Formats: sequence, C-alpha cells, structure tokens
Amino acid sequence: MPNVHHSQKTDLRNLTRDELTAFVVARGLPSFRAKQIFPWLYRPGITDFSEMTDLSKDLRNTLTEEAFFSRLLPAAKETSSDGTVKYGFLLEDGKVIETVLIPEDGRHTLCVSSQVGCAMDCSFCLTGTMGFSRNLSCAEMVNQVFTVADDLHKNEQGAINNLVFMGMGEPLANFNNLVKALTILTDELGFDFPDRKITVSTCGLVPQILELGQLFKVNLAISLHAADNETRTRLMPINARYPLESLLEACRQYALSRRKRIMFEYILLQGINDSDQDALRLAKLLHGIPAKINLLPCNETPELPYKKPDQKRIDSFQEILKRKGYTVLVRSSRGADISAACGQLAAKSST
Ligand code: SAH
Repeated sequence: MPNVHHSQKTDLRNLTRDELTAFVVARGLPSFRAKQIFPWLYRPGITDFSEMTDLSKDLRNTLTEEAFFSRLLPAAKETSSDGTVKYGFLLEDGKVIETVLIPEDGRHTLCVSSQVGCAMDCSFCLTGTMGFSRNLSCAEMVNQVFTVADDLHKNEQGAINNLVFMGMGEPLANFNNLVKALTILTDELGFDFPDRKITVSTCGLVPQILELGQLFKVNLAISLHAADNETRTRLMPINARYPLESLLEACRQYALSRRKRIMFEYILLQGINDSDQDALRLAKLLHGIPAKINLLPCNETPELPYKKPDQKRIDSFQEILKRKGYTVLVRSSRGADISAACGQLAAKSST
C-alpha cells in the first residue's frame, strides 16, 4: 500500500499555494519558500525532495521530516481499439478509481474522477449502482492528472490538453476538494491549465453551480437527460431537490458571468426521453440560454434496462433541435470495449 508510512506527515499535493505558504510560515520559514517549493511538486519525474536542487539542504531536510507528496499507483492500464486508455488507480485504502484518457486529433482529453462511487443514484449510470464510498481528496484528483501527464511525457506522447470532471462521482458533491484541486490545476506555478480548458460536469447541484461560477471560469456541463420534471425525477433523484426551473436559472446566471455556452448532455433512452415531443420540449426549455447540446445515445449495459434508440430516431431528435437553431452534436461513444465509456465506470474495490 502506498504512502502509509507517511501518515504523520503533510501531503503537499493536498495544499494549494496559499496553504503551502501557511505551512512554511508555521515552521518559521519565510513565505517565499512556498513559491520555490510549489512548482517542483508538479514537475514530471520528481519523486523526492532531494531532487529539488535549488532548495537549501536544511529546507530539504525539514520537508523530508514533516512532509511528503503522494503518488497514485497505476494498478491497471487498458487500451481500447479506438485509442481510449483507461487507468485504474489503487488508493491508499485499497479502493480503486478509474481515469480515462481520450486522444482525438492529436490532442488529449483526460476524464477525471471525483469520488469513489457516487451517491446520486441516476438510474442509467453504472457508477450509481456501486453506491457511494467516499470523496476523493484534492491530492487524489490532482494526482490523476499528474500521473497520466507523467506517463504521456515518459512515452513522448505529448501533453494533456483538456480536463473534464466527468469520471466517477459527482464533482460538485465534493465541492471543497474540487475547488482546491482546480486551484492547483489552474495555478500558473502548478499545472497552469487555463479555466477554458477545464470542464466540470454535474447532475445539477444548484447552490454549488452558483458558487463555482463565482470562483472559476471553467466550462460547465449539465447532465440534463430530460426536459420535463416528471421524467427527470424518475431518472435522476436529484431533480426532486433541484427541479428544472431552478437548475436552468442557475445555468443562466453561470452563463452570464462568463459569456460562454453551457454544455447540456442528453442521453437518448429508447422510449423514455427520445420522442419528437421531447426534442421540442428541450428546445423550449433551453430557450435564451447560450447552449451547446450533446446527444449521447445510451451506452447499453446488461445490468441496466435501457436501450439506445435506432439511428432514425436519433437523427430526427437532432434535426428538430437544429431547426430550432441549436448547436447539437451526437457524441460517439469512446472506449466502450474496455468499459471506459460514459456511465460505465464502476471499478471494483480490491478489498
Ligand atoms: N456526476 C457528474 C459527472 C459524471 S459525467 C454528472 O452527472 O455530470 C458522466 C456522464 O455520463 C454524465 O453525463 C452521465 O449522465 C453520462 N452517463 C451515465 N450513464 C450513461 C449511459 N448509460 N450512457 C451514456 N451516458 C451515460
């Protein structure tokens, strides 16, 4: 098991630059030391304080005594016939999470997990069926990015261009750790990802959507999946707490603050939300919101009762939205052969 012997020490990958500054100041060191240490933590190939060559020996000794930086161990790595790569990572407590790397046109998108399992219980999603186990720490989220970036770097395969929080879990239900992770990922001395290259996807936690909009200009994706409250509540229990009216009002506010379009994800489930009426209702619902619509023909799995509509139905649904003036894409599913596609992430715990 990784890192257990460090348990008394502080994991520096759990600290934003401000928190690292507080950490060094609390140890009687000048605050600028944090600015020296922080970039080292996210440099590829660095595994030990002794490699941080511009730090004094004293400082390195102090750090070795009181701190460490955690790493994620790849427990499995599978490559799909379409090039999608699924990493399985073993956590300190024996749990396993999955992270998916999606290469497209020479660029890389990384799909990051935010929780072990998920408590949202959406009826079409396999992650939901495994139940909720725990939140990921900030370090566990940042380390998914670091480890995959390091792997790409070692194999001279380039860099990660986009991050999407669309893996296992509901990122906005792990809000504080998510905010810390985003702070590190966007810090110019950390990973230096621009906000516009990061997308946070949510099933619709309204207060956290609004709060996120105050803190970052990251892209927002909404897992919508139905255009009326009755159907949506049936598919997604969270809708009973935050019904469509309040969700779309939050989207309006979010869009206003960053003048960019919101991405609406809509799974097409045969006979449930895929009629022409549903498409018209969706068009009406999103009226006035700067929107991009992604239609996801349901990824079928033997554990769940849903089917994907036939191509004619999918085309008709898309056509109606297009005629109403929306940008609407039908997203082809990636990585289905290795269970890496949307809604298929459900790692079994190793303990
Ligand atoms: N909890 C967040 C992040 C997960 S994103 C959210 O709900 O947005 C994972 C995406 O895969 C979501 O849009 C989810 O609705 C979608 N998904 C889940 N099950 C699916 C399935 N069977 N087929 C296609 N997409 C699915």
